[in-house]
Amino acid sequence: MLRRMVEINSFTGNRGGVNQLGRLTAACFADLGFTSEFVPSTNPAWGDHLVLTRPGRSPRSVAMVSHLDTVFPPEEEVRNGFRWQLEGDRIYGPGTHDIKGGTVMMWLIVSALQELSPTAFNEISWRLFWNSSEETLSHDFGDVCRSHFDHGTLAALVFESEGRLGDERLMVVARKGRATWRVTAAGRGAHAGAKHSHGANAIVQISHTIQRVAALTDPTRQLTFNVGTVSGGTVLNRVPHEALAEGEFRAFTPEAYAHGKAALLALAGPGEVRSPVDGYACDVKVEILSETRPWPRNPDTDRLLAVWRRAGDQLGIAVDAEERGGLSDGNLLWDAVPTLDGLGPWGDNGHCSERSSDGSKLPEYVDVASFVPKAALNLVAIAELIEQADVGP
Ligand SMILES: [Zn+2]
Repeated sequence: MLRRMVEINSFTGNRGGVNQLGRLTAACFADLGFTSEFVPSTNPAWGDHLVLTRPGRSPRSVAMVSHLDTVFPPEEEVRNGFRWQLEGDRIYGPGTHDIKGGTVMMWLIVSALQELSPTAFNEISWRLFWNSSEETLSHDFGDVCRSHFDHGTLAALVFESEGRLGDERLMVVARKGRATWRVTAAGRGAHAGAKHSHGANAIVQISHTIQRVAALTDPTRQLTFNVGTVSGGTVLNRVPHEALAEGEFRAFTPEAYAHGKAALLALAGPGEVRSPVDGYACDVKVEILSETRPWPRNPDTDRLLAVWRRAGDQLGIAVDAEERGGLSDGNLLWDAVPTLDGLGPWGDNGHCSERSSDGSKLPEYVDVASFVPKAALNLVAIAELIEQADVGP
């Protein structure tokens, strides 16, 4: 199943490939009694989100979340010879670990539960979701999931890859929020020979401004700013009239996020670079381009973590928590229903496709041996979740 999924290129921009993978995924779960719904993305360039449901006897439901897309365009896979390759305990290939291995993990869990605990399996309504465009942070997928949640939804379980610290399996319990931004310095152009002093140099201004942006990084708040690109000017004999920089910032808590956003926006206004002739100042503009809010540590997620820890105790698997800097669909869901992430298998080098002969560059792979123990851990934990709900109010 994993191989068939990996062999379909499902780069976010490859709409046909993403939809093909959606159909294959629906077919894989059809034997377990799931019916499929394909929901168009708000962006017509992306493929359809996939929702698979299996109604149970009770109003209680469990949601599982994965995504269809990968970051690898077909040309890149060909150029780097990046394809399904089994070597020892590793399977290299696009999406093996981010996140087709997670999709197969979902299948392992529901099929095992159906076989081992059919009563619990039939009691629960199962709602499985695949984002067609997770790698571009399409927020409409969050709305698709949330519209299928209700008071009976016990948890949203996200199957991004597991973290590891030695032998410990790390569940993801928080993720940073992220905003992207652009700062633009508007100066005044001038002939660099004849009227140099008439100019207000926008590149010199942006160089001051980006130093200030970088200095907003605050380790005590776990707030990071990254200046990602910078550009400006046109030709060499002209004092440049415009320069701009773009980047992002990230934080775990809504408070730190709000602090970072306010501090960034406060950099707007007249700059210090001026024309000596009349004092004409560069103008600095700050724009927020996109925002994904943080998923902070919270009691609902911690309650799920406790269930997974107990399952680990039963099975002799050490389980701990991780607060991860990268985003996932968990950011869109945690305040709707209790959310836990990192339920997928273990692997490494996500988003990498290159391989060098000396082994210093290795592409994405999933660890084959991590599937079954992690499936057992997830299975025992989900069984407890269902059982808890039975005795609850
Ligand atoms: Zn990814």
